[in-house]
Amino acid sequence: MADEQFSGEVVKLDRGYPLVRLESGERVRCEHATALVKEGACRAVIGDHVQVSVPAAHDKGVIEAIAPRTREFVRKDPTERAVPQVLAANFERVIVAQPVGEVNLRRLERELVLAFETGAAVTVVLTKADLADDAAATEATLAAVRALAGPAAEVLLVSAADPASVDAVRALLAPGTTTVLIGRSGVGKSSLVNMLVGDEVLEVGAVREGDGKGRHTTVSREIVEVPGAGRIVDMPGVRGLGLWDAEAGIEAAFPDIESLAEGCRFRDCTHHEEPGCAVRAAVEAGTLPRERYDSYQALQQEMATVRDRREQARRMNKEKASDQKRYNKKTQGRKRR
Ligand code: GDP
Ligand code: ZN
Repeated sequence: MADEQFSGEVVKLDRGYPLVRLESGERVRCEHATALVKEGACRAVIGDHVQVSVPAAHDKGVIEAIAPRTREFVRKDPTERAVPQVLAANFERVIVAQPVGEVNLRRLERELVLAFETGAAVTVVLTKADLADDAAATEATLAAVRALAGPAAEVLLVSAADPASVDAVRALLAPGTTTVLIGRSGVGKSSLVNMLVGDEVLEVGAVREGDGKGRHTTVSREIVEVPGAGRIVDMPGVRGLGLWDAEAGIEAAFPDIESLAEGCRFRDCTHHEEPGCAVRAAVEAGTLPRERYDSYQALQQEMATVRDRREQARRMNKEKASDQKRYNKKTQGRKRR
């Protein structure tokens, strides 16, 4: 008789087995059913809804099936040429965090592209406001970030020294929804989660992800319930954010360029050498910052490279498959003889 199956959700991922919270509230470490892994190399990620069996006399549960995802946060697998990596599933909002005193606009552009690509609501949270003692500089940064984020993403300012500053963030976490928090290590994500919860649920200042200096590393993600609000997942160690499928994300993150492009002579203008290019004209006229144009082109180029590699990989797999077929035919033929 088949084991009884339970519905659950992956609430924690670390170096061990995924931790699944069953509907009963019980939390069990689970491994993947062999068939599941074989099928499409699909592995459950944080936020996944799963079917779990708990075989008797077995110390772990078994993930038998993963429900279709409403949303995924995807980057290019940093260790592979052309493989996507899903970092989280089934969420409603992405918060991009950077310290207000050390904003990196180029990185922010990339983070926004990936965030918008998910189709979720996007918010930028600038942290460590207490460390920025120059009010005018903070205002200038806020203005620059607001201009970059565009009307689609709200920009908020928080500080660990001012607990009330996170109220506006908490207000965005609607009950029953899940928010994914991304940002370089050290930007204050764990601190933000702790302030939202009003308790030390995450370790602050923990060293995460290998830095090549042989320090201890922990890479753990956990869904945290914010009392009276929604849930939030801190994604530590998301250092490399290589683009995967990012066409819609780039479009959403660069509305200024997209709208300029409507004035280009050619509908499929790439804004490189074409005559009558309204985008390059705006750069020449100084109305579109050159750095912004450059990073737009760099991101487009990066995406094109990944697309080519995927195409190559697909062709190679097809060749492999047809080699296999030819081989099978040959050996079958041999058998018949
Ligand atoms: P994470 O790696 O993004 O989770 O960052 P952490 O929350 O661990 O914070 C990294 C460091 O920045 C820690 O030493 C925190 O104490 C410090 N930090 C975080 N938020 C603030 C803030 O608002 N103000 C100040 N002064 N320090 C902060
Ligand atoms: Zn153009």
